[in-house]
Amino acid sequence: MDKDEHSVDPEGSSADRSGLVSEDGRNTKAVLCQRCGSKVLCPGMAVFSEKELFLPSMKKKRALSTSEGPMDGDNLTAHWLVDDMYTFENVGFTNDVGRIKYLICADCEIGPIGWHCLDDKKSFYVAVERVNHA
Ligand SMILES: [Zn+2]
Repeated sequence: MDKDEHSVDPEGSSADRSGLVSEDGRNTKAVLCQRCGSKVLCPGMAVFSEKELFLPSMKKKRALSTSEGPMDGDNLTAHWLVDDMYTFENVGFTNDVGRIKYLICADCEIGPIGWHCLDDKKSFYVAVERVNHA
């Protein structure tokens, strides 16, 4: 079996992100790629959402699309939810993995930074832990 690394600490992490979420639940800061700084979302364009999603470990796009078998990754619960892909400043997608597309940086193609299911066209999730905020 895969070893599960549960680093989720609800109390600690909620305090940690308090400066990122506005009173109406939106992102107060721009969302940027951790690797190259490409802007993914402008402030106020996404809604904070808690949903448990599995995202494979960060790697380049080609490795994401070709990996087979069990993937290393994290169960992430804190996300920025966007209902329209045109809300993004810059974002890329992997090839479909089942019914899932992963969001990647449009510039350096590192990812996944987020998650999208083809069954729900109006839900694009960006993992708070996988982006920078500025
Ligand atoms: Zn990037």
